[in-house]
Amino acid sequence: MKMSLKQQNSNKKDFYIRRQTANTSGDEKIYVTKSFLPPITDYFKLIEQIYKNGQLTNQGPMLKQLETNLSDFLKVKNLHYLTNGTIAIQVALKALGIDDGEIITTPFSYVATTSSILWERCKPVFVDIEPDNFTMDVNKIEEKITSKTRAILPVHVFGYACDVDSIQKIADKHNLKVIYDAAHAFASSYKGRSLVSFGDISTCSFHATKLFHTIEGGACIVKDDDISQNLNLIKRFGHNLDNHICLGINAKQSEFNAAMGLANFPYIKKIIEARREISNFYDELLKGCVKRPKVQDGLEYNYAYYPVVFKDEKELLNVFETLNKHNIFPRRYFYPSLNKLPYLKDYQSCPVSEDICSRIACMPLFVGLTHAQVERICSLLKESLG
Ligand SMILES: *Cc1c(COP(=O)(O)O)cnc(C)c1O
Repeated sequence: MKMSLKQQNSNKKDFYIRRQTANTSGDEKIYVTKSFLPPITDYFKLIEQIYKNGQLTNQGPMLKQLETNLSDFLKVKNLHYLTNGTIAIQVALKALGIDDGEIITTPFSYVATTSSILWERCKPVFVDIEPDNFTMDVNKIEEKITSKTRAILPVHVFGYACDVDSIQKIADKHNLKVIYDAAHAFASSYKGRSLVSFGDISTCSFHATKLFHTIEGGACIVKDDDISQNLNLIKRFGHNLDNHICLGINAKQSEFNAAMGLANFPYIKKIIEARREISNFYDELLKGCVKRPKVQDGLEYNYAYYPVVFKDEKELLNVFETLNKHNIFPRRYFYPSLNKLPYLKDYQSCPVSEDICSRIACMPLFVGLTHAQVERICSLLKESLG
């Protein structure tokens, strides 16, 4: 029987994904993640095109194509592909006209969420998290709103959905902007919608450690067309030729990074499939040994991370010691709780986040991690739990 071209391509991708398998001799270091790399010939073809047309950056054809592909894939408009996920948050704040005041945010995230707020000279006001899925506890938001509050900046942490409906309701009631740090949310969907489509602006990261990457890279997805136009200026110095319109910065991404994105793009679904399969295998082996987050109804998960919660920090440290001895390196995502960053002016207590941070870690999860390796990780983990 003759296969359609689409089937042939899909089989080729399956084969490529399976071939990613690392060596299983047991002496290879296993880190929490490993960047997916597309077939090098695919990347070369795109690089050759860049050489041919001579445009290396400044909103070139590779970038335009990637923006189109990602917009179609995520079913969103006003997607701006940028240099990284940190500048994306900063540019989002600027585009919404927020340059002072208080931003309500979560202490359970990567440091970039808080540091971006501080870098924009705003004050992070921390709202504690849900113990079940580590997203912002919506019942604790309103008590933190003051006359200085400008925006709410939650995180769809590990790709789990924030309570977007309640957050929007609170924002509308108090006339606040909502910016989602959606760095983990790429390709997750919630109630049939891309998780990166909520809020006034959602920001993505396409860093090499993320599910879908362009080596370095990020994006803003903007709800309002006028704000999108504003952001479009801000990201490239705030001018059109000699007409200087507003204060801007350089957040433009290069054609070489966009090309990596285009080469990775056809593999997104296969990457998620492979990660789902590995996550399910972990689930099977670790059932009852560690606590796992609760996935919300209506969430189609992207399998961005495999977080596990231990009984206490001592248990976590024991597991780390054993695994590290065997060249396996899970990571403490996230530690410390961001309300405890040493360069913050005042201490705001967030007991749930502080507790979770002391005993949560992400296990290795990447395309090419074999069942044998997952079995080894899990049996060592169980061994050190006793
Ligand atoms: C990775 C990450 C960022 C920063 O993205 P970069 O592209 O590395 O600048 C921001 N927030 C969260 C939650 C992240 O995980």
